[in-house]
Amino acid sequence: MDLTDIKKINLTEYAKNRYGYKCDSKGSGSCLLHPPDKHKSFSIWQGVDGIWRFKCFHEGITGTIVDLKIRIEGIGEKDACKELLKEFGNPQKKQTATKNPAKGK
Ligand SMILES: [Zn+2]
Repeated sequence: MDLTDIKKINLTEYAKNRYGYKCDSKGSGSCLLHPPDKHKSFSIWQGVDGIWRFKCFHEGITGTIVDLKIRIEGIGEKDACKELLKEFGNPQKKQTATKNPAKGK
C-alpha cells in the first residue's frame, strides 16, 4: 500500500472513526477544521479518480486524507504520510492473501 492507496481509503469512515465526524448520507457535516460548526460546512466525497477529498466551505479549501490529518493534528506532511502508512500500510508485516482452496459451494 502506498500513498495513492491510502488516499483511496474511505475518508468518511476514517473521519468518523478517528475524529468523530458526523455527516449525512451525502457526506456533508460539521466542519472538522472549525469546531463547533452548527452548519454543514464540510463535505467528504470520493472523486472519479477513486481518491477521497474533503472540502471546508469556511476557507474554500479541499484536500485528501493527508491534508486533513495535517490540518487537524497539526503535524507536518512527512509525519502525516508516515503515520498513515503505519496505520494502513503495515510495512513490517506483509499480509499475504490466504486463498481458501476449499470453496464452500
Ligand atoms: Zn471549516
